[in-house]
Amino acid sequence: MRVVLRPGAALTAVPDEAERLGLRRVLVVCGPRGEEAARGVADALGAACAGLHAEARMHVPVEVAERAVEVARDSGADGCVAVGGGSAIGLGKAIALRTGLPLLAVPSTYSGSEMTPVWGLTERGAKRTGRDPAVLPRAVVYDPELTLSLPVALSVTSGVNAIAHAAEALYAPDTSPLVSLTAEEGVRAMAGALTALAAAPRDLDARGRALYGAWLCGAALGATTMGLHHKLCHVLGGTFGLPHAETHTVVLPYALAYNAPAAPEAMAALGRALDADDVPGAVRDLAAGAGVPRSLAELGLAEADLAVAARMAVGQAYPNPREITEEGVLDVLRAAYEGDRPQLNSTIER
Ligand code: NAD
Repeated sequence: MRVVLRPGAALTAVPDEAERLGLRRVLVVCGPRGEEAARGVADALGAACAGLHAEARMHVPVEVAERAVEVARDSGADGCVAVGGGSAIGLGKAIALRTGLPLLAVPSTYSGSEMTPVWGLTERGAKRTGRDPAVLPRAVVYDPELTLSLPVALSVTSGVNAIAHAAEALYAPDTSPLVSLTAEEGVRAMAGALTALAAAPRDLDARGRALYGAWLCGAALGATTMGLHHKLCHVLGGTFGLPHAETHTVVLPYALAYNAPAAPEAMAALGRALDADDVPGAVRDLAAGAGVPRSLAELGLAEADLAVAARMAVGQAYPNPREITEEGVLDVLRAAYEGDRPQLNSTIER
């Protein structure tokens, strides 16, 4: 994979990267709200653009994917450029999965999807994910200018989504020294950038550092197997329709408080990156003052759904540093539902 990161790169580097891959007719995909930015990329591609398809939706509903595959085939596209957040990149991945067309990604959030071979499709309310090298973008073009429009609240939740990838990569069973270094540096870069962006959302340098953090955190995600935190967010998003980045932001402090006793090295790395002793508290503080929901209750989850979500989250095997019990998971969910400051150990140890 080639990675380009510089202001203005969406317009200047995408045509070069397409040409480098020998592409002559690329379909540009995006979500409805990202159409203006995507049109700029399409215009920059000129004759190498086969069309613009602005129908990406959160969690890639299977009918949205099928329609996009049809558009790609009908337009005679020999490649695809996804411009936008994880939803637009997810649609690009669905096209790559079904057609084998090479994918270029131009991310406008910090979701990190562009760095992973993981695809997702939602059918009849259930989200399926899988890994396939065909969906890993051949080139990623990070353009800080493209993210200037990202509101502070969305910047913070998307940034904490990235930090969640790095945090779980640090205690993943398949972590490595390379992943650990990448993850720690990714968290350091992202946390610093988010603090700067809260004060000055149009600070191009901080926008660049946030994308650099997203790159590293996404790479750590792509290289490892995620644990309890990602499983909980998958259930809360896929089954209860909670918004992706906001859910990650609410849940992460409590998932980390649960796992902390079983993952001392990961917590030490996160503590260094965040310059804090109380890692779950420091993660929660990143979202303070940004107008971001602080609890699952605020995100609209019903209290009665906590037990259902807990049962679903323990229903499938996945690696986690601390043993997963239904009771323990319910405690994590209840704490996230209430949204009080996470208590290291004491909320979960009996
Ligand atoms: P998103 O792509 O849905 O974007 C959220 C909102 O922000 C949308 O309304 C979008 O139009 C808007 N937006 C995006 N960029 C903007 C910008 N620069 N300025 C203003 N508004 C902007 O959300 P997301 O959090 O980026 O991605 C979530 C999706 O990505 C989920 O479906 C999740 O499962 C998936 N994801 C996949 C992976 C993976 O490895 N496969 C990793 C992370 C996330």
